[in-house]
Amino acid sequence: MSGSSESPIEAVPAGWRLPGIANLHSHAFQRAMAGLAERQTDPADSFWTWRETMYRMAARFDPDSLHAVASQLYVEMLEAGYTTVCEFHYLHHAPDGRPYATPTAMSDALVAAARETGIRLTLLPVLYMTGGFDGRPLNERQKRFGHEVDGYLRLFNALHAQQDEMLRVGCALHSLRAVPADAMREALAALPADARIHIHVAEQVGEVQDCIAVRDLRPVEWLLKNADVDARWTLVHATHLNDWEVAGVARSGATVAICPTTEANLGDGLFRLRDYLDAGGAWGLGSDSHISVSPVEELRWLEYGQRLHSRRRNIAVAATSPSVGATLLQGVLASAAQATGFAATDDVVVLDGDSPLLAGATAQDVADRWLFSGNRPAVREVRVAGRRVVAEGRHPNRDAVATRYATMLRDRLLG
Ligand SMILES: [Zn+2]
Repeated sequence: MSGSSESPIEAVPAGWRLPGIANLHSHAFQRAMAGLAERQTDPADSFWTWRETMYRMAARFDPDSLHAVASQLYVEMLEAGYTTVCEFHYLHHAPDGRPYATPTAMSDALVAAARETGIRLTLLPVLYMTGGFDGRPLNERQKRFGHEVDGYLRLFNALHAQQDEMLRVGCALHSLRAVPADAMREALAALPADARIHIHVAEQVGEVQDCIAVRDLRPVEWLLKNADVDARWTLVHATHLNDWEVAGVARSGATVAICPTTEANLGDGLFRLRDYLDAGGAWGLGSDSHISVSPVEELRWLEYGQRLHSRRRNIAVAATSPSVGATLLQGVLASAAQATGFAATDDVVVLDGDSPLLAGATAQDVADRWLFSGNRPAVREVRVAGRRVVAEGRHPNRDAVATRYATMLRDRLLG
């Protein structure tokens, strides 16, 4: 994983080719609120005040608006080089908490958006049951997220039956605070063996403190001691880890989905990247709240956060590769199949050989040049499952999807 000296980017006539990048963590609806939570509402603004803005936005969605927003997001992802997206999806019911006449209506909107735009989708319906570690019921704004275990499994099975070449269905546990321990065990025991399992964990210090107060253990420690965490698992964020947890997650074979721009935007903290790489841990990227839809920016800020903290340079390197760019890309590519559930694909991204970013690039430096030299998009072509979904830097439906998105924002979501 972190030990290869080979660059994952190779020369082709049009420029430089690399495998498609998996986006391991997405809440598609949050694309519509990017940039709308950047005004101070309280001197103590935090993740928890941001969440209030997010809940207000979530309450406005229906299947049509989710479809329009997800379509826009997926076009942006494809044009940026993401070819698979894991949707951590919890907007299940109508805003008052009652199921839609078709209980999969919101999930169906995401599946339709993915199929129409051509991105691979790992749909992760979320089990969300309680409003805190103390087991308090969901509040009014959380009601549309909620299920009991049996209802959740009905939803899961209905979606899982639709799996095909472009769709995988896995299970998301929202977080330890939202899923009681017994319910977690019951749901996990009922899953098919191929199902991937994703969970938000240890994103915020407050969550770590609450978990210790109620369960006597830190959240990642609790999870490692109370679930069979293995390579089927993706731990989202895992920001706050002690030494035992760093080693334990790495040893488990689970993937950590690091979401650098969202974690920065929300003031979460810094993932212990160097320690985790030293332990041989698997990791990938998520764009999460979509304040950025760019693997370049995610990887750049993953490295820059470490530099700012350590006051050193070139942190994410491997014993056999001094290139930060190649090491970061290798890490992301190595975890994709196990985190998404799609076996190795032939999805490809071609970087524009005529881009000034890459002028004079060589196989040794092309990854570094792409990640660390400016902001002009360099993705020229993207193919997913043999279908060309980006040509000359553009998705064929870019304009129509953007027009529908703008109308939906103006008339329904922000109006
Ligand atoms: Zn998330």
